[in-house]
Amino acid sequence: MAGTDGKRVLVLGGSRGIGAAIVRRFAAEGAKVSFTYSGSREAAERLAEETGTVAARTDNAERNAVIARVRDSGPLDVLVVNAGVAMLGDPLEQDPDEVDRMFRINVHAPYHAAVEAARRMPDGGRIIVIGSVNGDRVGFPGVAAYALTKSAVQGMVRGLARDFGPRSITVNAVQPGPVDTDMNPADGPLRDMLYGMMPMKRHGRPEEVAGMVAWLAGPEAGFVTGAMHTIDGGFGA
Ligand code: NDP
Repeated sequence: MAGTDGKRVLVLGGSRGIGAAIVRRFAAEGAKVSFTYSGSREAAERLAEETGTVAARTDNAERNAVIARVRDSGPLDVLVVNAGVAMLGDPLEQDPDEVDRMFRINVHAPYHAAVEAARRMPDGGRIIVIGSVNGDRVGFPGVAAYALTKSAVQGMVRGLARDFGPRSITVNAVQPGPVDTDMNPADGPLRDMLYGMMPMKRHGRPEEVAGMVAWLAGPEAGFVTGAMHTIDGGFGA
């Protein structure tokens, strides 16, 4: 029996990339999985059919929609907040409305979702947020606003671990380095620059990140909380 067999799992942002790998992983373990999407309806419906999971549209930029989705999906044993956007570029040129939208998706949504999930989560529940190694190391220009969002996740994880620890609810961040998805394709323009900074000259696979998430959700990780779990091929070393 796998670690999350029969557990109620919600993945916010599960239609593509790392989120889709997390959905597949939990479904394969026998969890009862639901997930959200924002723009990728077809991909979400295909994934739901393939995995026997349930897909629903929720835009993580909309605070009240996120809270309602978590409430209506609960009580949850496991919440994974994966949805994120990476708006990179010259901070002097970036549209402040778009920067604020990224803050809502990458920072506000994980916080409100985690708090809402914890209201009815049973003792021993798990809250996992996908941060980024950029929360610890930036490495090149054009990443300030995105890195800010992922550093903010760290503060939230530490704080909520303190708040919910007495109920044995763990709160952790998984911090990927470059992972081969639409956001950061292995054949994309950043490849050579990234590999120049990494001892392992490759992108990670979404399944590798999903494995770490599954471990954090499983019985072996019950004493692991308030921590950042980096999986980055040495980018931050
Ligand atoms: P992708 O762009 O490939 O996929 C993003 C996922 O998030 C999609 O399922 C997308 O759904 C969903 N999403 C985006 N915006 C919203 C929104 N407003 N509401 C709901 N869902 C949304 O990205 P990755 O899989 O690469 O990234 C996943 C997470 O991992 C992010 O938090 C990212 O910051 C983080 N990360 C990724 C790294 C990488 O190199 N790939 C490195 C470090 C961290 P839809 O298409 O339906 O809108």
